[in-house]
Amino acid sequence: MVGDGPGPVAPMSLPRVVLRPKRARPFYGRHPWVYPGAIAGTEGDPTDGAVVELVSHGGHFVARGIFNSRSKLRVRLYAWNENEVLDADFFAARLESAIQLRSDLLGYSSPGQACRLVYSESDGLSGLVVDRYDRWLTVQFTALGLAQRRELIADQLVKLLRPEGIYLRTERGIGQLEGVELEDGLLRGHVPAGPIVIEEDGIKFRVHLAEGQKTGFYLDQRENRIALASWMRGRRVLDAFCYTGGFGLHAARAGAASVLGIDSSEPAMALARENASLNELANVSFRCADVFEALNELASAGEKFGAIILDPPKFARSRRAIDDALRGYRRLESLALRLLEPSGLLVMCCCSGVIGEEMLEDLLAEVAVDAGRPLQILARRGQAPDHPISVTCPETAYLKCLICRVV
Ligand code: SAH
Repeated sequence: MVGDGPGPVAPMSLPRVVLRPKRARPFYGRHPWVYPGAIAGTEGDPTDGAVVELVSHGGHFVARGIFNSRSKLRVRLYAWNENEVLDADFFAARLESAIQLRSDLLGYSSPGQACRLVYSESDGLSGLVVDRYDRWLTVQFTALGLAQRRELIADQLVKLLRPEGIYLRTERGIGQLEGVELEDGLLRGHVPAGPIVIEEDGIKFRVHLAEGQKTGFYLDQRENRIALASWMRGRRVLDAFCYTGGFGLHAARAGAASVLGIDSSEPAMALARENASLNELANVSFRCADVFEALNELASAGEKFGAIILDPPKFARSRRAIDDALRGYRRLESLALRLLEPSGLLVMCCCSGVIGEEMLEDLLAEVAVDAGRPLQILARRGQAPDHPISVTCPETAYLKCLICRVV
């Protein structure tokens, strides 16, 4: 069926993945993930990482993607135009456009800044994340196909950005999910052995590119940290799940009465303390503890706060985990309400993509009713604009940040 009339010039011999009848609609709608359930069969015996053509059951071209028999995302789609070939130029163009958004429109290109330069599906590069930290880059591959093309991608990044070094970070569990066998390490140039310093709205943060969580810093919360700072003025602030001090240090600089940060990671606490002195912020303290236990103790001791930020890790990784996750969020919120003084602020963050804003708000309603305290949502925020949301891949929206006031 490849030769259906003259048509545009495309590689004639690409292996094909044929969809089941009536299963093509999401892919015409440009959703990039093809699960095995949608596939009737493959032709041409594609190897893992090979470029394939996705065709409807009737044999019509739908999209071009990369095959991986070891992943539940059997084909990741990258191009919907039959003339587009997934070669080095193609990836260079996608990278260039992603980088341009951050520098030209969002203005994240000054020295010392950090931002996400490539956010996977949202930038048409499913399975690739690139972050810039001042003069260095970190790269994460969550797709076998792009991991195989890492030299090509690293070459293009060097050409476009001339970084001092590129460090490869691997996500836990990705080996099993995708069959990617990669280890953390240097891809290009040099990366300092210790933490580097980045600046976020005038606050300095030490970031450990090789050992920090995620790729070193939670860039997705940047605008929320900045926007919230002034709300914290004069308040006693509790920054729960504070990592290296993000929300708390911004609050302290903006005039919070005092800040207590809590996190269970000892290395994060060490960096948080260094960050406080780096910024000459004195009314800040950090405690290494489990947040659930610490909130319980503070509540039993009758402590009160004027603002509490809850920014827990992802509680739900799949739909099956939603109920357990909601129990976790509920417990945190009820403890926070016990700790908040009248007119206190509750900042509820949730980075579980499978838990939608509505679910989170329903939960807040239940918790508020149980506590007998009215709760108002003052602002609904989301992820930073360098983590754009692809309208054809709603899964790229994951971060919720609700700013609430408890009466
Ligand atoms: N607010 C931070 C990002 C938080 S990420 C910022 O702006 O940078 C979530 C944090 O929760 C991580 O630092 C992790 O170490 C911490 N964490 C996970 N489970 C925890 C628990 N049970 N108690 C305390 N901290 C926990």
